[in-house]
Amino acid sequence: MHYIKNLEAIPALAASGDLDKLKEVTRKYVFRTSDYYLDLIDWDDPADPIRQLIIPRPEELDSWGELDASNEAAVTVEHGVQHKYRDTVLLLCNEVCGAYCRYCFRKRLFMNDNDEVNKSVYDGLDYIAAHPEITNVLLTGGDPLLMSTRRLDEIIGRLRGIPHVRIIRIGSKMPAFNPWRILDDLDLQDMFNRYSTAEKRIYVMAHFDHPRELTAPAIRALDKLVHSGVILTNQCPLIHGINDHPEVLGELYRKLSWTGCAPYYLFQGRPTVGNAPYRVSIVRGWDIFQEALHLGSGLARRARFVMSHESGKIEILAVDEKYIYLRYHRAKDPALRGRFMIYHRNDEAYWLDDLVPVDPASTRQFPHDSIYDTEDGPD
Ligand code: SF4
Repeated sequence: MHYIKNLEAIPALAASGDLDKLKEVTRKYVFRTSDYYLDLIDWDDPADPIRQLIIPRPEELDSWGELDASNEAAVTVEHGVQHKYRDTVLLLCNEVCGAYCRYCFRKRLFMNDNDEVNKSVYDGLDYIAAHPEITNVLLTGGDPLLMSTRRLDEIIGRLRGIPHVRIIRIGSKMPAFNPWRILDDLDLQDMFNRYSTAEKRIYVMAHFDHPRELTAPAIRALDKLVHSGVILTNQCPLIHGINDHPEVLGELYRKLSWTGCAPYYLFQGRPTVGNAPYRVSIVRGWDIFQEALHLGSGLARRARFVMSHESGKIEILAVDEKYIYLRYHRAKDPALRGRFMIYHRNDEAYWLDDLVPVDPASTRQFPHDSIYDTEDGPD
């Protein structure tokens, strides 16, 4: 499998008249894919969902959104360490992905002048060791499975040496972008077997967006992870042109459940720069999600449709003719934990900040002692 960083190397694009416009996009938002992933594209279909996911579009240059739409900077406590909820820490340990999703909400990490990722992670490991309330660590980035197995082994070994860390999660799209990263590396499988124990499992939070990504090699890679003791779940955003159709999302949910990688979260797309062509409104997203749940298996119905807002993880519970009903699934401010909120329905709203509350007092921030939610549970 070969990685491709050059749009001219893709014959269907080289032959099109759009190449210059697309290259302008990639000067701002980096492009990378692989020959394996390109082979999933039906080039006869200009609206092909895999193409939308990986091939730049001129509309990415439209003015919309923010670079750090959920203000992750505000919860960054050390270089590459985000601590938003009391028990959970994110370690941004890699700034590369197998390919770059055009809609990425962390595309700032892949920009030249960004230095948010801490590849050494030692500061982060020391921070976690010094905070006994942290039970849950998510390795993210970028894609942690793009690091060498030796490096991963070192980081996970260190985390396993910290007694209060119980859950280790790895967020990765490598099962979709390059299943051979898992299939061909027996040392990686062995590492999972050693560190994913009966008492303390390792979770891989896979990222499949469309059922066509569940190829035979991808399913074999998931199977290898299961047989290496890993627990699988899937989380993905709802993205226009890729999975914003109940049949597509329902099929993804069914097939994921069959493989043992049942869906966990469906994310409302963060209003991130470059993402104008990929946005789906909250109301439309809720309709699609509800219908997809009915088409999916019973296990798929455990999934939640959430917004990763600056103030916390907000579940979109229901929409009716007049209102949108929300609840804090997790909250940065303990006073907001579990808070149920009603907003006026707005079919053009994409984010919490676009909505108007029915009772402004219900969304008021209260004074508090600690910045952390006290809920002890997986993110
Ligand atoms: S795999 Fe995740 S971090 Fe990487 S480009 Fe896609 S959305 Fe962004």
